[in-house]
Amino acid sequence: MAPFAFHTTPRIVFAAGASADLAMHLRIQAKDRVLVVTDATILALGLAKPALASLQGAGADITLFSGVEADPSLKTLMHAVEVAKDSSVNHVIGFGGGSSLDVAKLVALLAGSHENLEEAWGVGNAKGPRLKLALIPTTAGTGSEVTPVSIITVAGSEKRGVSSPLILPDVALLDPDLTLGLPPHVTAATGIDAMVHAIEAYASKNANNNPLSRTLAVEALRLIGANIETAVFNGTDRAARSAMLLGSMLAGQAFANSPVAAVHALAYPIGGTFHVPHGLSNALVLPHVLRFNAADPANGAAIHYAALAPHAFANMDVTGGSQAICHEFINRLANLSTQLGLKTRLRDVGIGESDLGAMAADAMKQGRLLVNNPRDVTEADALAIYRTAW
Ligand SMILES: [Zn+2]
Repeated sequence: MAPFAFHTTPRIVFAAGASADLAMHLRIQAKDRVLVVTDATILALGLAKPALASLQGAGADITLFSGVEADPSLKTLMHAVEVAKDSSVNHVIGFGGGSSLDVAKLVALLAGSHENLEEAWGVGNAKGPRLKLALIPTTAGTGSEVTPVSIITVAGSEKRGVSSPLILPDVALLDPDLTLGLPPHVTAATGIDAMVHAIEAYASKNANNNPLSRTLAVEALRLIGANIETAVFNGTDRAARSAMLLGSMLAGQAFANSPVAAVHALAYPIGGTFHVPHGLSNALVLPHVLRFNAADPANGAAIHYAALAPHAFANMDVTGGSQAICHEFINRLANLSTQLGLKTRLRDVGIGESDLGAMAADAMKQGRLLVNNPRDVTEADALAIYRTAW
């Protein structure tokens, strides 16, 4: 067996309503100075109220940073780091979607170590130590609570990442009740993002693609495939919401150790330039990238996709050969976006045909992701894929 390493969050608490007992689960004490990193919508919805009350009850000194936006910017991150330093916090809690969790990770790192962010970008360059860190997702999609990666938008539209086991949190607290009120289009897009994490992790060409990641990816696809429609159309269904949150975390653990590839690489220019949410960006290019990969039988992607198909779609006919099953799997994924009410073409999200060339050039900057793709992607390939998705 090929050697591999597997990192994940050391302590995971999964319980409906757990955010009301946050202080207990996070072992917060009266002397703790806690920074809660979140966004304005979460505060306005009152979603963090039980969590904040729990921290108050424990006597913690709380500083709130609610300035995180979608695709968080470098400016927002550095502002949050200043707030953390000014308040001399010793504990950072990220509470929200992937953006809040990603910002919380780097605040804990930069306020704890005082290192220079410019030297921390990339894989394995962070030095630490970081402050104590807990992450509480309110969407079922990014899996950021179990990934060692934080993505920040620098200089307008360029996405940069810090990847280091140092920014895995001490605790991930998963409370499915926090996701009960997610609107259908957010549930759909974030759910498909999690499916992409599982699919790309399973088929990743990365040298650390490993049996743990593949096992987790299969279970993630099973949970999400069986529950995404219920979660979208009947959002208060606790069982479906629980399955989605667990599935997205398992997919996160999978791709944290067997990284994602060209779907994400081609999605980033869509999000960065046109401010399309991350999950929807992925959904828009998903079937087209998978078809591109599967078209070259030499790379084995079609066999991987065929193996995943019956887990994602339990009622699928799998009596044909792997090419036929793979073909049907990709068609089902494309149809799923339509069924869930998502936009399915690049032209539907404000992208013009004349934008595609610049997007293809931009996608080539995601070399850290493209190297994991089962099939090599040139700039001309990226442009052709964008054209089919347009
Ligand atoms: Zn993603």
